[in-house]
Amino acid sequence: MEPNNVMYVAFVPSAGGVWSDDSIYIVSLDDPHDYCTFDNYYIQCTQCCVIFLSKLIIHNIIIANMIWNTHETLIVGRSAGYIERSIAAFDMDGTIIKTKSGKRFPQNANDWIFFCDRVPQVLQELHKEGHSIAFISNQLGIGLGKVDANEIKKKIENIATALDIPIIALLATADDHLRKPRTGVQEFINQKFIFYCGDAAGRKRDFASSDYRFALNLGIPFKTPEALFLKSDHPNNNDSTLWDIGFDPRTIPSGANEFTHAQHQEIIVLCGPPASGKSSFANEYNDRYDLICQDILKTKAKCLKKCRETLSDSIIIDATNRDVATRSCWIEYARSKNIPIRCVVMDVEKPLAMHLNTYRNAYGDKRVPAIAIHMFFSKYEPPTIGEGFSEIITLPFRSDNADLRRFV
Ligand SMILES: [Mg+2]
Repeated sequence: MEPNNVMYVAFVPSAGGVWSDDSIYIVSLDDPHDYCTFDNYYIQCTQCCVIFLSKLIIHNIIIANMIWNTHETLIVGRSAGYIERSIAAFDMDGTIIKTKSGKRFPQNANDWIFFCDRVPQVLQELHKEGHSIAFISNQLGIGLGKVDANEIKKKIENIATALDIPIIALLATADDHLRKPRTGVQEFINQKFIFYCGDAAGRKRDFASSDYRFALNLGIPFKTPEALFLKSDHPNNNDSTLWDIGFDPRTIPSGANEFTHAQHQEIIVLCGPPASGKSSFANEYNDRYDLICQDILKTKAKCLKKCRETLSDSIIIDATNRDVATRSCWIEYARSKNIPIRCVVMDVEKPLAMHLNTYRNAYGDKRVPAIAIHMFFSKYEPPTIGEGFSEIITLPFRSDNADLRRFV
């Protein structure tokens, strides 16, 4: 057939319907969204116009034309010939590519070379074996307006062209549930992951461990680029027990804490860092206690005022109450009214508090700056009976929220 219209490109399928270099694909070059349908390998082109081009030309045309969409804060690009199968997923910077300039951050859209010479070969082999290739990359710079999204898209199209296989690219542009190691990106993938490969594994010189923690969150095998592409057998590149992943949220126990409310009027002073579950605790008992929450009332003076107005009910003071001086006003007030006062300590160490705070932020709840958590621990004085409490109850952190046991 002589080309009489350069709008269409076709691939021819291999036996068994395996999508490979020989697969059928038709795309309108004028409008890449205007796909034609196919059925049992017979092309059903809506405009009855099929042009067979050489494989090389087809590749260049198809792969250079990625289709880009934005879903919330996620930018998704698909090569026009991309078909989703089981996913071999990769980080991009430091994994698929590195800077040509040798600088830590790329100087422009052309400042890249493959991580090593074997990258195209390894990815092509995976593609031939029937896997789809996905780049899953944190690109906060786009969300912050420091990096031009079009530059990144162009770069990825150039990488895909050089790889000569169709790919999908998923770019997380905000510090939210879509950013690695968080797994929101999973919503955009329908097939299973066979592994994730990335350079942020928590090895000695790695800037982070987010790639390895992403794989742990997904429960999928993880490979470093050195192990996959360079076939390194060095323990540092293969032995995950040597990698530093920081606080491990999988250790958070499930279940609920035991707390027995008093039968008489009382004051409960909560004590714990930001994000340690004080408000959740207070809300759980709000049928028996009036809540005085410093986050809501803002100043301590207002908290005390509300305390005085709440004459006959039991009260929970929901604030960090980190030191003796901060707690003393509640004890003085309780003494002046002859009301028993107990302290409930949220037993949360700093790494867990940081984890809980990051979780809140990622999933849209309010967040306190990390400095507030550092401040709490630098000034923290554990409460004692000597201060005037009738009892100090220490509650370890527990949660039935399985999402809290994922890395954030
Ligand atoms: Mg990287």
